[in-house]
Amino acid sequence: MIKFKELNLEGEKEKKKESPVEKTRCLILGSGPAGYTAAIYAARANLSPILYQGLEPGGQLTTTTVIENFPGYPEGVDSFQMMEDLKKQAARFGTDIRDGAATDSDLSESPYKITIDDEKVIETETLIIATGARAKYLGLKSEQKFKGSGVSACALCDGFFYKGKDVAVVGGGDTAAEEAIYLAGLCNKVYMIVRKDHLRASKPLQEGVFKTENIEILFEHTTKEITGNEVVDGAILTNRKGEEVRIDIEGFFVAIGHKPNSQIFSKFLETDNTGYIKTEPGTPRTNIQGVFACGDVIDPVYRQAVTAAATGCMAALDAERYLGTRKF
Ligand code: NDP
Repeated sequence: MIKFKELNLEGEKEKKKESPVEKTRCLILGSGPAGYTAAIYAARANLSPILYQGLEPGGQLTTTTVIENFPGYPEGVDSFQMMEDLKKQAARFGTDIRDGAATDSDLSESPYKITIDDEKVIETETLIIATGARAKYLGLKSEQKFKGSGVSACALCDGFFYKGKDVAVVGGGDTAAEEAIYLAGLCNKVYMIVRKDHLRASKPLQEGVFKTENIEILFEHTTKEITGNEVVDGAILTNRKGEEVRIDIEGFFVAIGHKPNSQIFSKFLETDNTGYIKTEPGTPRTNIQGVFACGDVIDPVYRQAVTAAATGCMAALDAERYLGTRKF
């Protein structure tokens, strides 16, 4: 009996594989805290969501090590463990979690069509975009080498590990200014490495930087290399005259901007100049009914696991409400 059932199931799977178009009520793209939280809520509401994990399963959190600021973990939690737990929780309620990334979209009419890995098309009544953003890096080999052991793109996530130490922040925008001020409260000294002769950050943040005594701004400096053996011990910079300058630091924070993963939707969804998807203020609703966006793909400012999770929850609740008004 059991064997017969199993065979049938296999048959079903084969049929699904062969079919070029699959239909669903709720498709979630992305496997960071926003995507998985949306999945937990959508699955518990019987929407039978399908979730595609994307190119970087677990999202940006997996580029850090320990998460100490997510509520509910007094001892902190390993970032991979947390993403594994979120995945298990989403699966427990019936989310169909799959490998694969969205490579194209047609949101011109409902049901919306999403192409996965350039091959398969999913037709969905509601779409939850939780595709996140990527931190921009300088592109140095040494930067890659020390990612997670001295190089970070998130001061709020990793700053605590550099308490009392000397660190550097690269960039002159709002993020760099905020991160430098935050780190100055924890660290002994913060260098800001700024390629221009001025900051791009807003006036209040600039003032905050200027009046913080343990921040030293190195204007018109660029980073040539980050040094160290196992962990970072310094950086070689080039100044405006082309001379090399060494700074001794243990943490190197890159804050030169993020790129939201929204390109495949740009024909249909309103975005800002950088590509962040615009939503109705205070909601995950995009300019297309039934299409919701949450997490870092809509958020250039807060970018925290907990804020991403919160907007993921909102997206699923809105998807549920939207579906409640129509028959599939
Ligand atoms: P921005 O694009 O505003 O700034 C990036 C900074 O990094 C610039 O100073 C830029 O230099 C520098 N930079 C870029 N590439 C390199 C490179 N290869 N080498 C060295 N330096 C480089 O990004 P942010 O993340 O700061 O801000 C993104 C958006 O989010 C903005 O709209 C900002 O206002 C908003 N934001 C608002 C906050 C708030 O309101 N509290 C907090 C954080 C962000 P250059 O100036 O020379 O181009």
